[in-house]
Amino acid sequence: MRYSSTRDKDKSITASEAIIRGISNEGGLFVPQEFPSINLEKMLDMDYRQIAYEVMSKYLTDFRPEDLKACVGNAYDDKFTAKEIAPLKKVGEDYFLELYHGPTLAFKDMALSILPHLLTTALKNEGVKEEIVILTATSGDTGKAALEGFANVEGIKIVVFFPENGVSQIQKLQMKTQEGDNTFVVGINGNFDHAQSGVKNIFNNAELVEKLKENNYLLSSANSINIGRLIPQITYYFHGYINLLKDKEIKLGDKINIVVPTGNFGNILAAYYAKEMGLPINKLICASNENNVLTEFINTGIYDRRRELILTSSPSMDILISSNLERLLYHLLGDDKKIDDLMSQLSTNGYYKAENVDRSDFYGDFSTEDEVKTTIAKAFKEKGYLMDTHTAVAFNVLEKYREKTGDQSKAIISSTASPFKFADKVASALELDLAGKDEFQIIDELAKKADLNVPKAIEELKHKTIRHENNCNKEEMPDMVLDYLKVGMDND
Ligand SMILES: *Cc1c(COP(=O)(O)O)cnc(C)c1O
Repeated sequence: MRYSSTRDKDKSITASEAIIRGISNEGGLFVPQEFPSINLEKMLDMDYRQIAYEVMSKYLTDFRPEDLKACVGNAYDDKFTAKEIAPLKKVGEDYFLELYHGPTLAFKDMALSILPHLLTTALKNEGVKEEIVILTATSGDTGKAALEGFANVEGIKIVVFFPENGVSQIQKLQMKTQEGDNTFVVGINGNFDHAQSGVKNIFNNAELVEKLKENNYLLSSANSINIGRLIPQITYYFHGYINLLKDKEIKLGDKINIVVPTGNFGNILAAYYAKEMGLPINKLICASNENNVLTEFINTGIYDRRRELILTSSPSMDILISSNLERLLYHLLGDDKKIDDLMSQLSTNGYYKAENVDRSDFYGDFSTEDEVKTTIAKAFKEKGYLMDTHTAVAFNVLEKYREKTGDQSKAIISSTASPFKFADKVASALELDLAGKDEFQIIDELAKKADLNVPKAIEELKHKTIRHENNCNKEEMPDMVLDYLKVGMDND
């Protein structure tokens, strides 16, 4: 399997090179040149690790089998508190694929627990000698999951930028207390889109990249623009389907719907890849919060980011520029020049029109803040199931989809975070009395109310010391990186 760039079709590189580079030098994203097909029957008796190997070996064809097996084994071990890694929970007639039993309590762990292993193997495969610097912009969950995955990995440094006022208290505390001498965390005065475009600008700053290279540093990315993030995520959609089969909820070949709470379009794109590989999927339901650019795009073909970003109760989806949509457009259009044109329209005009793109695999809708609250409260009251705000966006959109279309096919809900990670929002949806209580007290209240244990990762946070207090403006991001690496830009 070789990889092209969405903005340069003629590029043809190995999986290892694509993972190391993160983003192509003309600004495009790496994409597989074709979709491998998969034999579902072969997977019937496989556990999560075996499915992960089966799926990933089709994409990472330059990895030696024993190396890839080691990557999978080192990633999906007892740092996940559920033995199925991603348990599928039946609640009433619905199936919640819980992707949040990893070390940072959100679905980003599914990919970021393996990416460091994939990257170190890729470096070995390509004989790279430079030290790697991972640059990451985060809306809260990626940052911590990447820090956790890369902390103390030899030959790699990791820098994370997060919006100082755009993440939850727990998310902020998780990042600021990160251990590991190779970690560097910076809050920026701006929102996630500022952090993400700031990071992209550093990648595209040829002079800076060259200067780093002279100092033996190579930049890479842990954001979902890295194909090494996307590929591991395909696994859990196969795993979810296989579990429906095992539980005799469906028959082999039955089509299901998949609903995904969406921000940067990475998670749902992995489901699209699974569909293209032969997983029987009817609709990919793209659920947004009030930042509903994707809803509009799926319904009209027009992508328009010219609006204020709204800070919602699902901060990991507070995004106006969904980077991975570029990959979907490329797969649907197959035209790199057109993609280049659309993306430059987006950055100069703030919108583009792609009405002739076939969007029929997808259904798009969004939830208001009120709907998120009532969804959480209703599911808890009627079914005793506690879900976080992001998952609630998905569940609410699924209910509206069923009502509107009458399609009652079985559906998997991609459950992306532990309710304890966004405890104040979840507790207020349940109308618990929060007056005068701090985040940890609210978490205890919530645990009591729902009769659940507080996740260990949160208990431990209480006693950790703050190790990162850095803050900067968007324009200062390159300097922060250079300072941290002790690299000067002047040729002295
Ligand atoms: C990142 C994240 C999302 C959005 O996923 P994308 O791949 O960016 O679309 C949804 N929910 C949670 C909890 C997340 O951390």
